[in-house]
Amino acid sequence: MARESLDAKRARAVRIIRELRRLYPKPRTVLTYRSKFELLIAVILSAQATDSSVNAVTPRLFGRFPTQGSLASADLSELSAILKPVGLANSKAKAIKETARMIRDQFGGEVPSTVEDLMLLRGVGRKTALVVLGEGFGIAEGIAVDTHVNRVSQRLGFTRYQDPVRVERDLVGIIQRKDWIATNHLLIFHGRATCKARVPLCSTCIVNTLCPSAKE
Ligand code: SF4
Repeated sequence: MARESLDAKRARAVRIIRELRRLYPKPRTVLTYRSKFELLIAVILSAQATDSSVNAVTPRLFGRFPTQGSLASADLSELSAILKPVGLANSKAKAIKETARMIRDQFGGEVPSTVEDLMLLRGVGRKTALVVLGEGFGIAEGIAVDTHVNRVSQRLGFTRYQDPVRVERDLVGIIQRKDWIATNHLLIFHGRATCKARVPLCSTCIVNTLCPSAKE
């Protein structure tokens, strides 16, 4: 098969994103939150956890510790007990307590609005920072790459890499900037529902005519 030009790949990506937007009209996080701060904490907690498990603990968490100050001075063992259902409770308790303290003491109580500043916070890597920026601020600084985005991007022929940094570099070169925030959610939704890790459901996939990995 002839190698696809970059222009052809970009044009194909436009059509794929258009189809996925039709299928998933609300490409937003399913984490529940009432403020940028709660969003940040919820995204930190979602590492290696399901969104539903995070949504199950955050009402209790923010009911018990409703402010940055109260979370910053929380008792770690009490915090860990609340976070137990999301897994990695001890390290996540330390991360959100320290993050709350840093936001209070170093950022004047405001969640920072740049990737660089967000990544200074404990428990915040590039993926978390990009999700918080996109969802909380509407700022598109890149495309957050998780395991679903990574796998679906490879199958769609958008990248041949597995390293998230290189995957993101390929994606931002192909996908229009106005779609960067949505792309993270669209590929996650599609990865969960159809382009599953073990057996992708190609025969019912809405983009199967646009996908080089489509199987009969
Ligand atoms: S056609 Fe198959 S491999 Fe391609 S995106 Fe759809 S489910 Fe994934």
